[in-house]
Amino acid sequence: MNIFQRRESEVRSYIRSFPVLFEKARGATLIDREGQEYIDFFAGAGALNYGHNPEAMKQALIRYLQEDGVAHSLDMATEAKERFLERFEQVILKPRGLDYKVQFTGPTGANAVEAALKLARRVKGRRNVIAFTNAYHGLSMGALATTANSHYRNEAWIQRQDVSFVPYDGYLGADVDTAVLLRKLITDRSSGVDLPAAIILETVQAEGGVNIASRRWLQTVAEICRENDILLIVDDIQVGCGRTGTFFSFESAGLKPDLVVLSKSISGYGLPMSLLLIRTEHDQWKPGEHTGTFRGNNLGFVAAAEALRHWETTELTAQVAARGQQLVTALQEFVREFPGLIAKVRGTGMIWGAEFKETALCQAVARQAFARGLIIETCGSERNVLKFLPPLVIDAATLALGLDRLREAMRDVVKRETAAQVARSV
Ligand code: PMP
Repeated sequence: MNIFQRRESEVRSYIRSFPVLFEKARGATLIDREGQEYIDFFAGAGALNYGHNPEAMKQALIRYLQEDGVAHSLDMATEAKERFLERFEQVILKPRGLDYKVQFTGPTGANAVEAALKLARRVKGRRNVIAFTNAYHGLSMGALATTANSHYRNEAWIQRQDVSFVPYDGYLGADVDTAVLLRKLITDRSSGVDLPAAIILETVQAEGGVNIASRRWLQTVAEICRENDILLIVDDIQVGCGRTGTFFSFESAGLKPDLVVLSKSISGYGLPMSLLLIRTEHDQWKPGEHTGTFRGNNLGFVAAAEALRHWETTELTAQVAARGQQLVTALQEFVREFPGLIAKVRGTGMIWGAEFKETALCQAVARQAFARGLIIETCGSERNVLKFLPPLVIDAATLALGLDRLREAMRDVVKRETAAQVARSV
């Protein structure tokens, strides 16, 4: 029994799916202690959009440390924070005509979601919040209340009374527009749904199975919010920072949400850092009303300021388009080659999901892929969707190699399945 099995809590998770000891990482590749290399199609669940240890950010961090730059500063002013804010304003906000105040929350995504929910309730003076089926917003108590999957929830821990769940786009099939139901529930004061302070949504439900909201549905939800004095919170934790091709995932739908939650790839180096963007009129916090010790990760600021260089040109957007196309072409081939495994594929930019016909087959493919040197995770409430989330900067050859390994894994699973069927029939 190794130290992890002996000492680390049973709650550990990814260490079980990828049971090796990782030693080094670079770009889209990880190397374990035995020297075996793995292509990373998981990218820290979206925290490594720019890959592992990107050189420019690494050098900026090394310089900062060598010069005794301030590492911890609560939320006091530092040069690192000044530079990040200036760059964020210049590179992200101004070109998009967005006027957000920036709140530095605790370092995890859930911390920022908590701040968003609390602020929305404070601003509107209402307790209810609407969230969607299959939503994932984190696992601290407030965020958990808006997370749909019962795997993470238990009536013993939290009450659900302050959150109403409504079907997400596509939940009732392609022909049913769930925004119609949402509007009715909100405008009919006999619907049983209290007027919410906010509606919180992901434009692409990543953990929920790579479910993609249409542009029109998003625009209708935004309109319902506007017409009914409800704040719109977009949780861009997993699919923000370029995953869909634009910096914010909601840009293509032309939304200007009241609150935006960013985390994961905002620091660019996988360092803990989260932000809540607040439309200026909603920034009604009293000084220090929502505070915490770790709200100024200066190393995060240093890397994040450097990461924003990617957004001064269209390079990354073009890269996402090209690699996204490569990915979808391969997935379509997989659908043709493995009709017994894959039911359908869906995605956008550099987030794609392959929905399997059976959970066991999906899990078997992920395991076999890992055995061949590919890190890939499953998602969806049944964990039957293989999720493709490589670093955005992955090169064509590495992406192709990862996809080859996956093809081999699927061939292997099909072979075993066929053998098992033959064995059962004799
Ligand atoms: N929201 C979304 C959309 C997420 O994908 C995640 C993390 N998977 C979270 C919130 C929670 O972030 P964290 O795990 O850092 O608390």
